[in-house]
Amino acid sequence: MKTSINLKPTVVVIFGGTGDLNMRKLAPALYNLYSDNYMPGNFAIIGTARKKLTDQKFRDTLMEGVNSFSRNGKVKKDKWTKFAEHVHYNPVDVSAPDTFASLKTLIERFQNEFGPTTQVVYYLAVAPNLFPLIAQCISKYGLAGTEESCKVVIEKPFGRDLETAKELNKLLTGIFTEKQIYRIDHYLGKETVQNIMAFRFANSFLEPLWNRTYIDHVQISVTEQLGVGDRGGYYDGAGALRDMIQNHILQLLCLVGMETPINFDADEIRNKKVDVLKAMRPFGPDDIRFSTVRGQYTKGWVEGKEVPGYRSEKDVDADSNTETFAAIKFFVDNWRWQGIPFYVRTGKRLFQTSSLITIQFKDVPHHIFPGSVTEHWQQNRLIISIQPEMSIRLQVQAKRPGLDMVLNPVDMVFDYKGTYSSDTPEAYETLLLDVMTGDQTQFMRADQVESAWELLMPVVNSWESKKSLSFPNYTADSWGPEDAEALIARDGFHWFTLPLNKG
Ligand code: NAP
Repeated sequence: MKTSINLKPTVVVIFGGTGDLNMRKLAPALYNLYSDNYMPGNFAIIGTARKKLTDQKFRDTLMEGVNSFSRNGKVKKDKWTKFAEHVHYNPVDVSAPDTFASLKTLIERFQNEFGPTTQVVYYLAVAPNLFPLIAQCISKYGLAGTEESCKVVIEKPFGRDLETAKELNKLLTGIFTEKQIYRIDHYLGKETVQNIMAFRFANSFLEPLWNRTYIDHVQISVTEQLGVGDRGGYYDGAGALRDMIQNHILQLLCLVGMETPINFDADEIRNKKVDVLKAMRPFGPDDIRFSTVRGQYTKGWVEGKEVPGYRSEKDVDADSNTETFAAIKFFVDNWRWQGIPFYVRTGKRLFQTSSLITIQFKDVPHHIFPGSVTEHWQQNRLIISIQPEMSIRLQVQAKRPGLDMVLNPVDMVFDYKGTYSSDTPEAYETLLLDVMTGDQTQFMRADQVESAWELLMPVVNSWESKKSLSFPNYTADSWGPEDAEALIARDGFHWFTLPLNKG
């Protein structure tokens, strides 16, 4: 997380230069960083993929990506022309390592031009089966450099289970040091996610309440209205547990659950997050039965259009056992959180797209108001809305204006849009800048990734080994399977939602 900026000359090499991620996220982020004067004075961007393209053709393709997906809309012609001069293309087939030679020559050209302080950032925006091949090619061609001169960014998914994550970590740490490896989880770059730390640790009133004495449960709900779309090929081998819970949701849980770091050092913060994962209660066989729910969507209607069930989506097995919905009740077995449930849920084709963290506080110890006054009684809640609304709401009881004493819940709201006039940067802008400045705070360390996998493996194994007999078990445009309501209702709670516009 940046507090000051000191950018060295940088060569950004994007493996998967012609891919979706580069078009949608990386190219717009790099162009916006350039437009906002956050790129180094000397920099080059090299796209690579198997396709044979000229520099000009690659630049034109990137411009289409920026025009379609940048938060700032279409490029400004003069800015783009200057930016494009830094953009190059070099075809590489990573399964034919000889093709790396020309890439090495191009990188060295910029290293010579920019001088000895130049750093090279390798961004692996390719399918995960290519991560090892690329790392090995970088090593074979003597391009792995040092902590000062080379960084490697690894996209998600990082492994598909504990064993494969360990294997990948072993391979990467055999070539690079941990300080060179940036395992990206773009959720951590979101403005509202970064603000969780600011909110928790820069405000004195919160800490005395942030524990089992005052909080009765926590909910993390990351729901999507979209179905699997064109990602069936990837998603059918992954599912909601791997795609969302192992990374984004457990990271959010760590931010809510972590102890106060002693300083803002990347490793100190990551230590505190790993402590949460290590304190999470392991799942036994009965816990999986009673503390987890899986679901898969069937066809339905979304905004007047009929949408297919998951098993009829493109590239999805017609008898698929993959979950498109998951809800889990976790416990963090430490002094702060003992006995406090953390409910998480995520899924596709749900009623609303939103990411919410809800902290529900315990009820007042004694009710002084008569029942007639408190018909709409609601325990205090803190609601951190990550998207689409970017806000923090504190729900409190207040007296309704009038001659009668009637209480109802009202929201004290901090809303980004209403408070700040400036646009918030995209997560990839923040994270790419962090990579260039060498700040690993928002990136996953090897032990973080492995601890998250270790926690979830009993659930992964159980769900994979026992085919669900109830799939498909929720309709598109619903809030998921009924069992997910029961999971939380059994404890006397219900899933909280914000009455947002759909989208
Ligand atoms: P994609 O659109 O399928 O792009 C894959 C890229 O890899 C293409 O540029 C492809 O180009 C290149 N490629 C394939 N085989 C190659 C080879 N042998 N040698 C060199 N290049 C090769 O995939 P994507 O959606 O961009 O995703 C890339 C990674 O980012 C994945 O790990 C994904 O999980 C992750 N991710 C993507 C998104 C997103 O929004 N798309 C979001 C989060 C994470 P050629 O065919 O020309 O070689």
